[in-house]
Amino acid sequence: MYLVPARGDSRKIRFIDLHQDMLSGVSRLDGGFSMYGSNYLTGASHASAVWSSLYPHTPGSSLIGELHAHRELLGSHSSSLRLITTVADLDADDSRTGLLPHSEGFHLSSVEPDVLDSLWTEHSLRSLALTWNHETEYGYSCYDDGAAPLKPAGRQLVRALEHSPLMLDLAHLNDAGFYEALELYAPPVLVTHTFCRALTDHPRGLTDDQLRALGDHGGLIGLAFDPDFLGQGSIDEALRHVERIVSLAGEGAVSIGSDWGVVTMGELGDHEALAGLLAAVAAGYGADLAERFAFANAYDFLSAGLPVDYAV
Ligand SMILES: [Zn+2]
Repeated sequence: MYLVPARGDSRKIRFIDLHQDMLSGVSRLDGGFSMYGSNYLTGASHASAVWSSLYPHTPGSSLIGELHAHRELLGSHSSSLRLITTVADLDADDSRTGLLPHSEGFHLSSVEPDVLDSLWTEHSLRSLALTWNHETEYGYSCYDDGAAPLKPAGRQLVRALEHSPLMLDLAHLNDAGFYEALELYAPPVLVTHTFCRALTDHPRGLTDDQLRALGDHGGLIGLAFDPDFLGQGSIDEALRHVERIVSLAGEGAVSIGSDWGVVTMGELGDHEALAGLLAAVAAGYGADLAERFAFANAYDFLSAGLPVDYAV
């Protein structure tokens, strides 16, 4: 079952979230975790693991600067947060939320292997997307020309990532870049926060053909809860997206990518609502799919992709 008793608390939800703007939510909005729900880190229902996204929210922001700020976040909330580096970290009997720092479209000083290694080992970066909402030196976002190919530096980066522990996220990328990256990169890929474009006509979503391609490629797809992406952001709408992702990409491909942190959410704005969605998935499609959606698919992806130990 997806609702598992833990440490005497029967309300704990076991889940992994592929995408939250945690640093921005804490540092730029309210100085705390209140917008994640009243008991996000100290109470009943925090996530087991979260991809914690860093993005170029101001013109002067840099990846290294954001990673330093994220390290401070971890340090100042060390009783509630921890870093995930290895499979052993993932499996540790530790009730704190494990974080996987993620770059959404930041410029890298170089895509040479030693720079990628340094981002992993010294700066704790765990994954990256080639773009955020704008063109980068690597490629074009979904708001740019959908037919524009990856740039040479983008191809070089995607190839280099295949030999790096850093994971690749294709969220925000334009359609041509998406398909080119799948051709260049053999390991399973993430699309950390997205939805079905056939249900909500918005360029940030994935087409049915892209969903099938991800199913063939071992992709993991996080369903975002933003009202812009789900109509009103309701549980019923989210269920339709879950069903379509499963039907086209397979039941091993669907996961949560809430996008909590900065965006104003609709019905799916906190952990209580998430529990309602998981109950609805279980009622409609069975407890096994609810468990896959909430936890197991992301756990399997991480346990296959993370280093086993610290000797990386
Ligand atoms: Zn994003």
